[in-house]
Amino acid sequence: MHKKPILVVLLGVAVGLWFVAQWLHGNRSAMVTVEMTRTEQQQWLLEYTFAKPVQQATFIRNPDSSRQQRWQPLEAGFYIGRDAEQREFIARADGQPFQSVAFQLTPTYVSLRKDYAPFMPFSDGGVAWFTGRFKICPEHCQSAMQFVYTFTMRAPEDVHILIPEQQGMGALSWQETSATDGSLVYVGPQQGNSEGVRGVTTLLDPQLPTSLQQGLATETPALLNFFNARLPSLTYTPMVLASYSTTDDGRYGYQGGVVNQQMTLHWYGAVLSERLRGAYFVEDTLWFVAHEFAHLYQAGQFSQDQAWIHEGAAEFMAARYLQQSPLTADYTELRFQQARQDCAEEHDPIAVHYACGLVWSERIDAEIRKRHESGLFFLWYMYIDALQQETSAQPDYTELYYKLMGEVTSEAFATELEETISARYRALQ
Ligand SMILES: [Zn+2]
Repeated sequence: MHKKPILVVLLGVAVGLWFVAQWLHGNRSAMVTVEMTRTEQQQWLLEYTFAKPVQQATFIRNPDSSRQQRWQPLEAGFYIGRDAEQREFIARADGQPFQSVAFQLTPTYVSLRKDYAPFMPFSDGGVAWFTGRFKICPEHCQSAMQFVYTFTMRAPEDVHILIPEQQGMGALSWQETSATDGSLVYVGPQQGNSEGVRGVTTLLDPQLPTSLQQGLATETPALLNFFNARLPSLTYTPMVLASYSTTDDGRYGYQGGVVNQQMTLHWYGAVLSERLRGAYFVEDTLWFVAHEFAHLYQAGQFSQDQAWIHEGAAEFMAARYLQQSPLTADYTELRFQQARQDCAEEHDPIAVHYACGLVWSERIDAEIRKRHESGLFFLWYMYIDALQQETSAQPDYTELYYKLMGEVTSEAFATELEETISARYRALQ
């Protein structure tokens, strides 16, 4: 063969490869720029910019359709719709493509069933927002697609902005490559860790009653010691954000969550100082905080349909923490009694995850204790360790849990328990 045709062929191959690489790059990964701005007037503005024009952009997390009410497009002609799969999306009424779009947001607290609150307001004007709420796919969400989100938070110059292990004033930029989760971004007057709790960055709402703030400051090291002694230690500095907001419809309560390395504890509604005097407020709070600490150590997203595994274990670990003190031992016994009753009577799957989860975790603990004195913690140590070494993107959490349970109890016990649990969930349908 002559040299020239070979060169032509090689050039052709190179050009072809370049096109394939471009096509793959364009189809496999998408860059989205998300810019959040808090103005001097406390307005919250959000702008998306896509690498190339899109006909629509689809949200990844869709617990409900509240973006349709809470997000106002800054430019006429845009709207938020809902597709056949109940996913919210942004598009233009005239069907034309667009490369950027901006909204004004409502930064108040809403409790979303099965998802984190988008905004967690602090009474000193600070706000923590959840980036997962704002993740969007150019056009449609395809699981094979890789996303790179470049977030920028802008605020007035004297405002602190904190994310895990990064902070700034006035502006902060970072990237997130996971489409399915997110992190909490604190924006406000606090620079974190003012009380200096070792090993944790804490942001405490100044409107939380002093006793509650002090309680959190003293319990936090004790909780870290408790869990460090029983489960694989944390490999990072966790962030605890404890906030409080009023409500105008009489609702009150608390909600917590753990996202990656961050824990949120939010109290809302009726004046806290009054509730503080209510029966068991201190014990309830301690249980709630210990439960969330357990999630911090559980370190991961677990099976949602078998949520009893991590919720029940978190309940059980909270109980063990409270049982250490004679002051809260009676309260713990009441919680177990209540859980047994709720487990027998409840029809709500979420309530079953918690109540039956505690009852079943107690049974597992008792069975493990016949051989290993650290009981359920022993199983969880193995489980977290195994999950950290897991290479599959979507491991079968439930199967792994039962497998390890069988190893530390007996095959017969694990099989019998699995049948009891399946029967309980079947009864809900
Ligand atoms: Zn929980």
